[in-house]
Amino acid sequence: MIPGAFAYHRPSSVKEAVGLLAQFGDDGRALAGGHSLVPMMKLRLATPANLVDLGGIADLKGVRADGNDIVIGAMTTQHDVIGSQLLGDKIPILRETSEQIADPQVRYLGTLGGNVANGDPGNDMPAVMLTLNATYHVMGKRGERRIAAREFYQGAYFTALEAGDVLTAVRIPVPAAGHGYAYEKLKRKVGDYATAAAAVVLTMSGGKVAACSIGLTNVAETPLWAEEAAKILGGSALEPATVKRAVAAAEKITAPATDARGPAQYRTKMAGVMTARALQRAFARAHS
Ligand SMILES: Cc1cc2nc3c(=O)[nH]c(=O)nc-3n(C[C@H](O)[C@H](O)[C@H](O)COP(=O)(O)OP(=O)(O)OC[C@H]3O[C@@H](n4cnc5c(N)ncnc54)[C@H](O)[C@@H]3O)c2cc1C
Repeated sequence: MIPGAFAYHRPSSVKEAVGLLAQFGDDGRALAGGHSLVPMMKLRLATPANLVDLGGIADLKGVRADGNDIVIGAMTTQHDVIGSQLLGDKIPILRETSEQIADPQVRYLGTLGGNVANGDPGNDMPAVMLTLNATYHVMGKRGERRIAAREFYQGAYFTALEAGDVLTAVRIPVPAAGHGYAYEKLKRKVGDYATAAAAVVLTMSGGKVAACSIGLTNVAETPLWAEEAAKILGGSALEPATVKRAVAAAEKITAPATDARGPAQYRTKMAGVMTARALQRAFARAHS
């Protein structure tokens, strides 16, 4: 339970952090809240020779509006997400999701950037980012690039980030006013990762679904965007038969592992149950 030896670096700018990470290559890792990385180091599943702590870079913190988007600095903690009035007003699913991550101690240090950059299929924010069609701002050796969340996740702990990259911010288009939303998470106990979870953002118009997006957590090697399931619901009034078809489409794209949270078949079924519940709650919250 004791990590291997490492050198600690605390840059004060993104440029400096990128320089250090590029110099260290595979021997360096960015450190954010440390609540995924440090446990991995204690188990010796990660043995970086150099830790580049992003905690001293003021530019990486905070939430701001930018036209019709909201931009959240990568080092904004999950606790800060819960406390942000701007996010509560404009993208309340972020608060609802953050409240279901771990416990207050973890949320005080754990960051939004760390949660989405980590690549663990058990992390809750990535599926929400797919649902919201977020874009990640990444600074690397060759300058800044922007990567759609829907193209970022490639496998368990395998993302579009390259050696030397720092995720600087997450950009989210503000969903339509009056949208409904819900993040439904089944877990074995408070503070646990999801057995299965579903995010829904829904806009109603004249009693019909005008727009819908659905994401799934921890039921495959990557977070899933359930595009087909959402398409089935378009133009419907969420009649039970249509919801049943959408739920079946969501279940169909899952490929969970059998583990301590249950057999694969059960977790697939729970992904369906979470989808149905999230749809119901999002619908109840939406203004037509
Ligand atoms: C007891 C416990 C329960 C938990 N339960 C949950 C849960 O239910 N749901 C959930 O989603 N999470 C859970 N977590 C994880 C927690 O939310 C982590 O804080 C989060 O996953 C990672 O964020 P971090 O800021 O701690 O990142 P770190 O642990 O510091 O980093 C994680 C990884 O991302 C990389 N990284 C971090 N920031 C950047 C960046 N800006 N640019 C490039 N790479 C970066 C690091 O190099 C590392 O590889 C739990 C953790 C604990 C200890």
